[in-house]
Amino acid sequence: MEKISMNDIRKKNYSDVYRLIYQERRISKSKIASSLEMSLPTVTQHLSTLETEGLIEKQGQMASGIGRKAAAYSIRPEARVSVGVEILPDYITAVVLNLYGTVLGKKEAQLSFSEKDEYFQALHDMICELLQETNIPGDAVLGAGIGMQGLVSEDGQRMLYGKILDCTGLTIHPLSERFPYPVRLIHDAECAAELELWRNPELTDVIYLSLGVHLGGAIIMHSQIQRGRTGRTGTVEHMTLVEGGRPCYCGKLGCMECYCSVNAMLEEGENLSDFFSRLRQGASRQVGRWAEYLDYLAMALNNLHMVLDCTIVLGGHIAPYLIKQDIDMLFSKLQDRTAFPEEENFICIGAQENHAVAAGAAIPFIRTFLETI
Ligand SMILES: [Zn+2]
Repeated sequence: MEKISMNDIRKKNYSDVYRLIYQERRISKSKIASSLEMSLPTVTQHLSTLETEGLIEKQGQMASGIGRKAAAYSIRPEARVSVGVEILPDYITAVVLNLYGTVLGKKEAQLSFSEKDEYFQALHDMICELLQETNIPGDAVLGAGIGMQGLVSEDGQRMLYGKILDCTGLTIHPLSERFPYPVRLIHDAECAAELELWRNPELTDVIYLSLGVHLGGAIIMHSQIQRGRTGRTGTVEHMTLVEGGRPCYCGKLGCMECYCSVNAMLEEGENLSDFFSRLRQGASRQVGRWAEYLDYLAMALNNLHMVLDCTIVLGGHIAPYLIKQDIDMLFSKLQDRTAFPEEENFICIGAQENHAVAAGAAIPFIRTFLETI
């Protein structure tokens, strides 16, 4: 018993030292000892182990006081990395993130989704090339998250519902068997919400909407993404917004997807960048469509806010294009509609990154590493 307990303490101290350096970014040995109430020899021992393992490094000296300056310790953010992928019907984006969640490299390719071997091989090759281009050795990779349009089993091994890509029942095996590290599927809305949580950890209770090519949602409570009984919590895209309205890919009519997704707003052959550049120039067709889009979105947000009285974050492919005036206009439309007008705007723009789903797909591996080191 005594021996196990000593090991446990050693392991905890080791983790605490690493996490403190991670959090502080640069810190001296004596500051670690005082912050963690550890003896200097104990701290020295853990620093030496972490340095040998390549997880931390000395990085210059702390700039303070007079006399001898103390060495500064930092983690090596590239000692471990995580890969994230977004799979769309005819497009793939892959990114690699370091331990601080910084995007080290990105690769994109036009590739039509299929469940054939060639597709998985091409995806595998793309990830290997990305790691090569960013000079990351294979053994530094914690895992790869694959952001999918659809619902995924809790263990990330199987598609429970994949109507957009027509891949219900798909297992990760044909892809994971090609890699020496863990690979898992993740619902794309959950990926985007993961990134949001990572970038804004102060957002503890949030209704998150991914205004992407397709619409997605996630409910974050106590800083955790809620999955619910069968993983369907937050799938707001199939809530009925217009009785007997436009047809949805799910087979029903009038879903929020058909009014609040990027697909619903854009015309054939148009892309988001074109749409917003014309909108900002005041082109009447885009201005009209944007106003209609915000009308529907305001209706949807008002409904959601009745269920959960918390901050609403708008992310997804649209987020990089959103400006404050859009949010003000949306909030004013919501105020006109709601039974409970509020003075303070509770809608905000999420992480304005072009590759939010891909980056978010990489986050769970980093989180697990930091929690379990
Ligand atoms: Zn639907």
